[in-house]
Amino acid sequence: MTVSRANSDLDSRELESFNHFIDGQFVPSQDGATRLSINPATGAPWAVVAEGGPADVERAVAAAREALEHGSWSSTSGLGRAKLMRRLAKLVESHADDLIAAEVRDNGKILAEVELQVADLIEYFDYFAGFADKITGSVLTTARPDKLVYQLRRPVGVVGAITAWNSPLLILAYKLAPSLATGCTMVVKPSEHTSASSLLLAGILDEAGFPRGVLNVIAGDGVGVGGPLVAHPGVSKVAFTGSSATGIRVAQAAASHLAPSSLELGGKSPNVIFADSDIDAAVAGAVAAIFSAAGQSCVAGSRLLVQREIYTEVVERVSQAADLLTIGDPFDRASHMGPMAFSGHRDHVLNCIKLAEEDGASKVAGGEVPHELRDGFFVRPTVFANVTNEMRIAREEVFGPVLAILPFVDEDDAVRISNDSPFGLAAGVWTKDVARAHRMARRLEVGTVWINSYRLVSFDVPFGGVKQSGYGRENGPEVLDQYLVSRTVWTDTSVTQG
Ligand code: NDP
Repeated sequence: MTVSRANSDLDSRELESFNHFIDGQFVPSQDGATRLSINPATGAPWAVVAEGGPADVERAVAAAREALEHGSWSSTSGLGRAKLMRRLAKLVESHADDLIAAEVRDNGKILAEVELQVADLIEYFDYFAGFADKITGSVLTTARPDKLVYQLRRPVGVVGAITAWNSPLLILAYKLAPSLATGCTMVVKPSEHTSASSLLLAGILDEAGFPRGVLNVIAGDGVGVGGPLVAHPGVSKVAFTGSSATGIRVAQAAASHLAPSSLELGGKSPNVIFADSDIDAAVAGAVAAIFSAAGQSCVAGSRLLVQREIYTEVVERVSQAADLLTIGDPFDRASHMGPMAFSGHRDHVLNCIKLAEEDGASKVAGGEVPHELRDGFFVRPTVFANVTNEMRIAREEVFGPVLAILPFVDEDDAVRISNDSPFGLAAGVWTKDVARAHRMARRLEVGTVWINSYRLVSFDVPFGGVKQSGYGRENGPEVLDQYLVSRTVWTDTSVTQG
C-alpha cells in the first residue's frame, strides 16, 4: 500500500464561514449557534457553519410556503422554470471549482470522484429542465356526457429534503432537480458533517435568478433541524437519503401529518462472480465496487459472492489489489482512496472490523488505521474471506472500505445468499452466460442489477431500493410523479349561463 500525506496547509488558512440560506438570504442561526466543519483528511477544522434549530426551520418552511403560494415562483411558467434551470446548470459549471473544493474538504472523497459528481450535477439540471415545460394535464372522458372533466398536475408543495454526507451535492440534485422542474419549493437539511457545498449551491441558485424562498438550506443536526423539518405540517413531501434506522424514524414523523415520503437507504449489496465470467474484469469490478468512495457508498458491493471453483483465486487477487491501493490526501491525484468522512464513522468502521474478526472471518487485507495518516480518519482497504452470511460483516452495513467474500455453489445458492439480507438496494452479476445473467436479474430482490458492471447511475435511469433499502425511485421521468399531485376539475356543461 502507498501512502500520501494529507495536505495540511489547506487548514492553516483562516476558517471559511457558512450561514443558512433562508428566503433568498444567508443568515445566521436565530440563537447564533455554530459548528466547526472538520477536514477528515487532516482532522483539523476548515469552516465554521451555522447550527440551526427549530426556529430556523420555522422561518425556512414559512419562506418556502410563501414562495409556493404567493411569490413570483407560483406564477413562473414551465418555460420560465426551464430557463432558470438551464442558467443554473451553466453557473454550476462556472463555480465548479468552489463546489468541488468544499465537497472534498467536507467529506474527504477523492478529487476525481467529486469532479465527476459535479459534472453530473450540471446534467441533472439540464435534463430535468427539459421536463419543466412539458408537465401537462389531460381531459378525461367520462360516462357523464354533460360534464367536462379535466385533470391538472400541480406541484406537491414544500419538499423537506434530508441528505447524507457521502455525496451531498449529487444526493441533493436527485431531489432538487425534479422539485424545481415541477414548481415545488424546498427546505434542505444537509448532513451536519457536510453542509458547505449545499449552501454554496443555494448561492448559485440565487445568482441564477430563482425567486427567494424556492430553495432554503438549514445546516444542523438531525435532532435540531431534521426532526422538526420532517414533522412540520407545512412540509408536503419528505425526500430522505440516509440510513435505514433514521429512514424509519423520518417516515414515521412524515406520516404523523400524512406527508408522503421517499426513502433512499442503506445496503449490503451482493456482487456475484460466476466461474464462467471474465475473471480479470470481475476482479477489477469487485475492487472498484467496494473501494470507490472508500466504501462510503450506498451501493457499495460489500458482499462479494464467488463461485467455489474460483474462490481461492479471486480472494487472492482482490486482496492483492486492495493492498496496492494508494490511500491519502483526497486532493492528491495519486490517491485512490481518501479518509472516512468523520472520526465517529472511522470508529464505527474499525468496530465492524473487530466484530468480523470476533465472528471468525479471516482478514486477508488491511484492517487498520495507517500510522502515517493518523491525524486524519483513514482506514486501510480491508478484505475478509471465509465469511458466512450469518456473520455481522455479511448482514450489517459498514459503509466503509471493508469487503466480505463468501463462497457459493451454484446459481440457486447465489440467489439464496444474495436475497437473505434485510437490504435490497443493488446487485452485480458477472458471467458470460447471457441467459443466466437475465435469470439472476429477475430473481435478485433489489432495485438495481448491474450485469458485468457495477455502480452505474444516471440522471435518466430510475434508482432506489426495496426492503430496508427504502421505497420510491429517484432519477428518470418517473420521479416527477412524486413531486406532483393531480387535481380533478368538473364542469357541469348543462348549466346555462345567464
Ligand atoms: P443518517 O441516517 O445518519 O443521516 C441521514 C440524514 O438524516 C442526515 O442529514 C442526518 O443528520 C439526518 N437525521 C438524523 N436523525 C434524524 C431525524 N431524527 N430526523 C430527521 N433527520 C435526521 O445517514 P448518514 O448521513 O450516516 O448516511 C449514510 C447512510 O446513508 C448509509 O446507510 C447509506 O447507505 C445511506 N445512503 C443511501 C443512499 C441511497 O441512495 N440509497 C445514498 C447515499 C447514502 P445528521 O447529519 O445530523 O446525522
